[in-house]
Order: sequence, then C-alpha cells, then structure tokens
Amino acid sequence: MAQHASTRPDTEALILGGEPTLEYQPLVDMTSGRLLGFEALLRWRHPEEGLILPSLLLPWLEANGDIVQLGEWVLAEGCHQATRWPENIQLAVNLSLVQLRRGVGSSAVVGAIERSGLEPGRLTVEFTEHALVEDVAMNDLRAIGALGVELAVDDVGTSWTSFDVLRRLEVNTVKIDRSFVGSLEPQQGINRLIVETVVSLAHSAGISTVAEGVETSQQASVVREFECDAAQGYFFAPPLSIAVATELANEPGFCFAYEGGGWSDHRFVVGAPEQPATHHPFTLGQSPA
Ligand code: C2E
Ligand code: MG
Ligand code: MG
Repeated sequence: MAQHASTRPDTEALILGGEPTLEYQPLVDMTSGRLLGFEALLRWRHPEEGLILPSLLLPWLEANGDIVQLGEWVLAEGCHQATRWPENIQLAVNLSLVQLRRGVGSSAVVGAIERSGLEPGRLTVEFTEHALVEDVAMNDLRAIGALGVELAVDDVGTSWTSFDVLRRLEVNTVKIDRSFVGSLEPQQGINRLIVETVVSLAHSAGISTVAEGVETSQQASVVREFECDAAQGYFFAPPLSIAVATELANEPGFCFAYEGGGWSDHRFVVGAPEQPATHHPFTLGQSPA
C-alpha cells in the first residue's frame, strides 16, 4: 500500500527474519481482584531486534493479507496454550477487520477450537467497532457467537457504537479504550463522564465492561467506583510470557493487590522474562500447523 511504502521493505525484512509469538496480559475482576483470564497479544521475535510490537507489524500484514494466515496461527497457538490453564480462566484473541470482512474469522475459530479441544465458552474474540457497519463482518461475528464463543468490542469510545446493535449481536463485553481510562483525574470531567456513561449503557443492555490501560491505583479506584466489571493494565500486570502467565493461572486462589480498596495483600510481581518456544511453527506462505 502506498502509505506504507517507506516502511514496507524494513518491516518485510524484520518479519522474514523472525517469528511470531504471543504474550498474555491478565484481565482482573474488579470486585474481587481475581484473575479472570488473559488477552493474547501478538509479538514478533527477531534475533537482533528482540520482541517487535503489533503497531509495526499489523499495517504491513493487513495490507498484503498475511494477517489471515497469521490470525489462524494466533488462534491455534492461544487456544492450545489455554488448555493448560484451569477451566475458569478465559482467553481473549484479537481478530483483524481484514479477517472478518473476508468472512474467514469463524472458520479460523472453528479450526482452533477443534484442534485444541478448548471449550468454546472459554474463548473471547475481540474486534473493533468498524466491524459493526460491514455486512460480511457482522455475519462472520454472528457465526462466531453461534459457536458459543464470547464477543468483545475493543477500544470502545474511539468510534461509533450503537448499544442497540451490540445487544442484537449479543455482544458479551465492551472494552473501554485506554485513552479515556488513562485520563480519569478529577479535572478530566469529560473522560470520567464517558467512562461512567459507557458502563451504565452497557450494563443496561446486559453487557459487561472492561477498562483497558489502568496504570495507577487512582485509575483503578475510579474504574471500580463506576462499577466497571473488569480491568487490564500495567498497574496490575504487563503482557507476560506464556511461562509466567501459566504459572499465575495455576496458582490457586491468586488475587491481585489493590492499594485503593483492599482485596488482598498478595501483590503480583512479574517473574524473570522468559522466551519459551511457541507450540506451532509459523512460516509466511505456508499453512499454520
Ligand atoms: P488492544 O487489543 O487494545 O490491546 C491492548 C494494548 O494495550 C496492547 O498493546 C497492550 O500491551 C497495551 N496495554 C496494556 N495495558 C496498558 C497500559 O496500562 N498502558 C498502556 N499504555 N498500554 C497498555 P499491543 O500489544 O502493542 O497491541 C496493540 C494492538 O494491536 C492491540 O490493541 C490490538 O488491536 C492489536 N493486536 C495485538 N495482537 C493482535 C493479534 O493477534 N491480532 C490482531 N489482528 N491484532 C492484534
Ligand atoms: Mg484487544
Ligand atoms: Mg483495546
């Protein structure tokens, strides 16, 4: 694509010289501090450059369609890893609009669930509001929902959202964008109002809420005051390697500490970074294992 012309050769070289991997960021229950599950986040492991973030990869992968094949890999790898966690721990996976508007998200979800044996209700598919105005994407999402997989709208507040459309699609969760959550100081009245309004509209439509990007105990307090059901952010934990995430998932009764409100005195400390092998090998141009 023309707008990526200057970055394309570099990005292509980085991608061809590395391999995909996933990190897993905890989702925290805001009433109890319990670990609800993890969001799988794509990274590219490069021998010299280290872990490369999706902001650099996604425009290139989406522009040339490789995101379809990679999206299948993300689902297969994430679902396989989630089978190593206790049954009450959820996995959330991001789907690209490119997958949904080609109508291939549902077949990728079916493949990953069948191969891994993960119970469909333990998987949440995250997508952005842009999918809600495209017919093919909406049909793909309905097919995913019909499998018993949960649906979550990501980055809510940045675009247009009709709660009536969300209710009819039987969306389970809305994730409030971190641009609102990250500025919840008392003087930021408009952001507080947006978060409070989204939570209350969602709850009145029977939809649960997650606050993204919680970085401070003050933000955690406000999010809790507004009765947001769950939260995610550096205040609780950054994206973790599969080894650390699996250790956390398997620690019985684990709760995150929370300075503003109690919960527990058990504060999560990030373990040493590890780079375990992923389950599925991935090579561009070949089908994922
Ligand atoms: P997202 O789905 O909204 O994921 C949350 C992003 O916020 C992640 O960035 C995460 O690392 C970051 N984050 C989490 N807590 C905090 C915090 O407290 N403060 C700040 N400043 N950031 C926080 P990341 O991993 O760079 O991913 C960026 C986006 O790339 C994701 O946003 C998602 O839209 C996309 N993405 C990630 N993995 C995949 C994937 O497997 N497939 C597709 N299609 N998209 C993906
Ligand atoms: Mg997401
Ligand atoms: Mg988001």
